[in-house]
Amino acid sequence: MFNLTEILNQAEFTKEELMYLLALRGDEQRKLFLRAAIIKEKFVGKKTYFRGLIEFSNICHKNCLYCGIRAANNKVNRYLLQKDSILEAVKFAYNNKYASIVLQAGEREDDEFINFINDLLVDIAKICNGELGITLSVGEQKTEVYKKWFDLGANRYLLRIEASNKDLYEKLHPNNSKHSFDRRLACLKNLQKIGYQTGTGVMISSPYQILNDLADDLLFFKAFDIDMVGMGPFIEHEQTPLFKHCKELPSLNERFLTSLNMIAILRIMMPEINIAAATALQAIDPVGREKAIQLGANVIMPNITPSLNRKDYLLYENKPCTDEGADECLDCLVARIDMAGDEIAWGEQGNSLHYQNRMKKRKE
Ligand code: SAH
Ligand code: SF4
Repeated sequence: MFNLTEILNQAEFTKEELMYLLALRGDEQRKLFLRAAIIKEKFVGKKTYFRGLIEFSNICHKNCLYCGIRAANNKVNRYLLQKDSILEAVKFAYNNKYASIVLQAGEREDDEFINFINDLLVDIAKICNGELGITLSVGEQKTEVYKKWFDLGANRYLLRIEASNKDLYEKLHPNNSKHSFDRRLACLKNLQKIGYQTGTGVMISSPYQILNDLADDLLFFKAFDIDMVGMGPFIEHEQTPLFKHCKELPSLNERFLTSLNMIAILRIMMPEINIAAATALQAIDPVGREKAIQLGANVIMPNITPSLNRKDYLLYENKPCTDEGADECLDCLVARIDMAGDEIAWGEQGNSLHYQNRMKKRKE
């Protein structure tokens, strides 16, 4: 019924075609990967951009049912990095020509946290003369807070929708006002309106999710005109309510393969966006991120969190590199990107091409 060669020559897909592509394995899957690699090379080049990832706090006021650092997990040793240690990591990224950083943490909306980020952004701007691309990933916030951070120099924001199907979202989160799908969506829209390069994503092969949902997620990214996507496999964490479903889930390897298909298909559908090779891929396959780079991803986020705190930022099990310092991680990563056939874009911020074109259209 489906002709793979014909479908792969299209730039847009129907829902049925997406579900067919998502299920591909073996030789047919390799054809999909090959097509995505060609599109990547043509539109964004064989280039990988680095974002130094600083997981600066695991304190969170939410209770997402899948996440190891959810507020109700009292086995977590909570931390907020000192501003100086964060700035050390920022300097490391800057001196090593990463050109961009990601500041990620659990979600808090209190004034102390907001002011902490305000001060941090001011100091980062001083250290790097405004030359670093700064991504924030600290969840849902008031519009004026997003606006303030944007004015202080944050130019990208990552807020995964987690599941674009509201019913599924509600199965993955507690049923209360702190975990509202509508608010998450509204936040994403606000970020885009303010002018951030806006990134979102989903967890792949989570409990209750079916292929139909993933096809809808891909259509959601396109309809939303998103600039960046970070998506990776769901990985169970023992101290979370969703752990009980892990026996019903596809194997880790299957989740990994579906994640690669998601990335490859998205590269064909949205050739100019930035797609991150999620760290969760590496928790399943030691070279999982590099495989993603070969078939469409163009961003990698080396973890530069001071190693003392890494073991406490466990969103899921088997999180890689929790005991390595930034230098060790960098050396192995550089060799592996090289093996994947990409060049590392040292010193280039790597703004989303899609964003740049979206902004041009806005001005016209
Ligand atoms: N608190 C912020 C950012 C930190 S969480 C936020 O929620 O937006 C970053 C991402 O980790 C989440 O968006 C989620 O998609 C991912 N994550 C959390 N638990 C996970 C799990 N068990 N498996 C895979 N990804 C997970
Ligand atoms: Fe908190 Fe983010 Fe984890 Fe949800 S996914 S519990 S908001 S850190």
